[in-house]
Amino acid sequence: MRTIKANCKECKHDVELKSSTVRLLKCQDISQFSYTFVCPNCSVINSVLTTDKVAGMLINYGVKLFVWHLPEEIYEPHIGSVVTYDDLLQFHFLLEKQNWLEQQVALFDQKSQKPELY
Ligand SMILES: [Zn+2]
Repeated sequence: MRTIKANCKECKHDVELKSSTVRLLKCQDISQFSYTFVCPNCSVINSVLTTDKVAGMLINYGVKLFVWHLPEEIYEPHIGSVVTYDDLLQFHFLLEKQNWLEQQVALFDQKSQKPELY
């Protein structure tokens, strides 16, 4: 097991890591590598984009590779207006009402097309 040197973005310390404490990630959809580690000095999780060359070196040092894919939701069409902070605030107040779900379902059933928040 080799020692890997890295720099923590939070505390700015140079740290030495065992390969078993580093995770190498590859997003298969965009062919982008990154690695993560928990800083032994400040305990902050660091995530660092990296090159194919460094990724190869980390694999040779015994770092385990995890391949992942972008979530399918990214490719779904998004219809309608963008949710605003006012929408979120309105939704928050709606959730405080009793029977809010039943009220919304009733409104949706009445209009049979577009639910509105009250
Ligand atoms: Zn740190």
